[in-house]
Amino acid sequence: MANARGIKKIRKGDTVEVIQGKETGKRGKVLRVLSEDERVVVERLNFIKRHVKPSQKNPQGGVIEREAGMHISNVKLVCPGCDAAVRVGRRIEKGEKVRYCKKCNVQVDKG
Ligand SMILES: [Zn+2]
Repeated sequence: MANARGIKKIRKGDTVEVIQGKETGKRGKVLRVLSEDERVVVERLNFIKRHVKPSQKNPQGGVIEREAGMHISNVKLVCPGCDAAVRVGRRIEKGEKVRYCKKCNVQVDKG
């Protein structure tokens, strides 16, 4: 699943900030990264309502709400060092691929 550069900018468990769309400025934790279509699912953000037909499990049917994914270009990582939505760089440190904050240069985590 690794891309050509071997390390993803946004990963599961990251805190991200929305930089485009109706929820700009909101932050949340990444629940899933859907790498094939470059989308991320962020906790409590971009909820959609889905109508479900009655079924055995849910005889009433009705409306359920869940997080819809958003395109990865609509979010930025929130840096644990400077608490800003930043661009992420990647580099090799002591033989390991790591992500770092392009603003404050803090290492975000190990790749
Ligand atoms: Zn930073």
